[in-house]
Amino acid sequence: MYYLTIKRRFAAAHRLLDYQGECASLHGHTWTVEVEVAGDQLDSCGMLVDFKLLKKMVDGIVSEMDHKYLNELIHFDLGGGGVNPTAENIAAYIFKRIRGQMEDLGKELCLREVKVWESPDASACYREDK
Ligand SMILES: [Zn+2]
Repeated sequence: MYYLTIKRRFAAAHRLLDYQGECASLHGHTWTVEVEVAGDQLDSCGMLVDFKLLKKMVDGIVSEMDHKYLNELIHFDLGGGGVNPTAENIAAYIFKRIRGQMEDLGKELCLREVKVWESPDASACYREDK
């Protein structure tokens, strides 16, 4: 099995609701998103998938969050039935968005995990494998 990981970054503000602590205040992070895919079929060039294609797909999703106030995005709008924009929920959101587009990259490819770093010392990872 081959595993590929790409990293992308975006800057965005958020605040956590129903939370007692500093993160209840408006603040920002430069978020790092790591996406890992896996598969056992290489193409004739020896690639599982072209890094460039994977980056382009993830950039399309991440760019919607770049320089935004995440709480105002529909998925993270608690007032509109959304979820708190924690690193955990951001990782799950990005995972599900990518999964919806995975077929574009090839049927043999499997999305393993999305890890979101909100600082160099703290990350949350979302997977759906058992
Ligand atoms: Zn934060």
